[in-house]
Amino acid sequence: MTPLGKRIVRRIASQGPITVADYMAEALTAPRYGYYMSGDPIGRGGDFITAPEVSQMFGELLGLWCVDTWQRMGAPASFLLVELGPGRGTLMADALRAARIAPGFCEAAALHLIEISSKLRDRQREALSGCPATWHDGIANLPDGPILLIANEFFDALPVRQFEHAAEGWCERVVVLDDAGELAFGLSPPSAAAALMVPEMLRKAPTGSLVEVSPAGLGVAAALGRRIAEDGGAALIIDYGSAETTAGASLQAVRRHAPHGVLTDPGSADLTAHVDFAALAGAAEGAGACVQGPVPQGAFLQRLGLAARADALTRKATADQARDIEAARHRLSDADQMGVLFKVLTVAHPSLGRLAGFD
Ligand code: SAH
Repeated sequence: MTPLGKRIVRRIASQGPITVADYMAEALTAPRYGYYMSGDPIGRGGDFITAPEVSQMFGELLGLWCVDTWQRMGAPASFLLVELGPGRGTLMADALRAARIAPGFCEAAALHLIEISSKLRDRQREALSGCPATWHDGIANLPDGPILLIANEFFDALPVRQFEHAAEGWCERVVVLDDAGELAFGLSPPSAAAALMVPEMLRKAPTGSLVEVSPAGLGVAAALGRRIAEDGGAALIIDYGSAETTAGASLQAVRRHAPHGVLTDPGSADLTAHVDFAALAGAAEGAGACVQGPVPQGAFLQRLGLAARADALTRKATADQARDIEAARHRLSDADQMGVLFKVLTVAHPSLGRLAGFD
């Protein structure tokens, strides 16, 4: 068993069962042994590949989206440019390079990165060579002011709680120790508290249904909505998940680009859950901001000019590079790849009107 696995077993042995969210938080972000704390999991040599690692076009188009939104904000002379979970820093480096076409944008931007892993902070510092940035553990520490924020594959890493509709009522799924002392899933007794955590439209779901809720994700969406309503700006949330709140368990583990047991060797595999965009939108709206979308990633990137950007790159490319550019365009935007499962939601100040990519 991994060192983190032993630690979780000891915790359950002394304190009793833990929620799936507590397990996920330990596995991903526990000091030293948590999955994101111990190395660089992203890319071909790692466990999973994200859109900015597929192609520079992704970050470049998001950089142009930021420029366009900044102009709609009245081109403020200073604003916060924020990324949640920047991974290797590739997206932000590509975005800033593309944004240089707009005089004044980079000079006005104060870069703030929300990253829990010190190893990934080092990678980000390298990728952004020379560009001053401030790192934070969470959004609560961000200074005041108008904000432009990007979060790509951040919300899927936030812990989810799981609830099961048993014959006697709603129960929370927990992580327990089985007879052999190994980690296993169990169920807490039915309770009104568990039922209250289940979104109202799902409370009558058939017996046996599983429902996931991310209090951490809802908390971040509400906090973003509040500060955008007060200080102005917009956030772009890109992730995989569903436009509507639905029943079903999506928590999964991935290691070396292949499925892995969720409870097997915690800390050694990525754990993610599908994002409930309707719930995030509701939390941000409830806090006073407007939302647009979610729209499918493929349609969003096409509206931002993916085809034209691919053509421009292809004109300067060798035959091999041209094949790679076409493969990346396909991967990012086609329906059988990342084009539909991945979605884009914006949380925006009501004064900004329709934002690029959402009409
Ligand atoms: N956006 C990047 C990386 C996605 S992986 C990309 O598209 O390639 C998720 C990122 O979020 C990692 O950088 C991880 O360390 C960070 N992260 C995960 N949970 C976090 C948390 N609770 N607080 C801050 N950062 C977190």
